[in-house]
Amino acid sequence: MQTNSTILDVSGLCKKYGNTDVLRGVNLQVREGELACIIGPSGSGKSTMLRCCNLLESPTSGNIIAASHELMNPEIDINRMRQDVGMVFQQFNLYPHLSALNNVTLALRKVQNKSKDEAQDIAMQALDQVGLKNKAMSKPGELSGGQQQRVAIARAVALKPRIILFDEPTSALDPELVDDVLNVMCDLRKRGMTMVVVTHEMAFAHAAADKVIFMDEGVVVESGTAADIFERPREGRTQAFLARYA
Ligand code: ADP
Ligand code: MG
Repeated sequence: MQTNSTILDVSGLCKKYGNTDVLRGVNLQVREGELACIIGPSGSGKSTMLRCCNLLESPTSGNIIAASHELMNPEIDINRMRQDVGMVFQQFNLYPHLSALNNVTLALRKVQNKSKDEAQDIAMQALDQVGLKNKAMSKPGELSGGQQQRVAIARAVALKPRIILFDEPTSALDPELVDDVLNVMCDLRKRGMTMVVVTHEMAFAHAAADKVIFMDEGVVVESGTAADIFERPREGRTQAFLARYA
């Protein structure tokens, strides 16, 4: 499903909080259809980088083009951009008082102005894709963490984004629930979805990623194919980081 067109292009991205430089010139490109995994130590700026890519954080300087939206353009329509650039969070961020179905239909109704029937059809298809059609009427509190995260993925998918950003989607899950979520992500990739995934699941990144990006101290230290990064890392910092997982 990979094509040659770049769908996410981050160049010279800097982010300061007060006097602290959290991102110090991040460069990365993701092509349409790719599954890109971002790895790196805690505090290296992975979440900040990802959140800049749909303007949950505002970059201090640099350029980002995401799904053809120029994020640094002051005229940007953020709501439209976020329909093309979806996001899945570590903590699911579902509405606890709404059913799985209504968690998925909400943005379809409010943001995309779909009719109730159309929103429900799309939402049921999305829930079916993540294997949860039979849980459509359950509230988040009645679902396991893995099921809640699959609802959150269905919610992102239902909007038909061109790219989905995932910030440690399995880090809040009990270990036995991690694979269900990773399998759903692998299915999505087979369907051609472009995904950028911050993860500590090294086996997943090694097996499934088209591209692996290692970040440390606010920069991309090294990026390449999964084999490049896991089997023949060039940089000492990458080698030292991976040694902790060996
Ligand atoms: P990672 O996701 O790789 O663990 P983060 O992007 O969350 O890293 O954080 C990078 C650095 O930025 C950390 O040192 C963190 O403390 C700091 N940071 C993150 N968010 C904020 C914030 N809102 N205000 C101040 N510092 C922040
Ligand atoms: Mg993080």
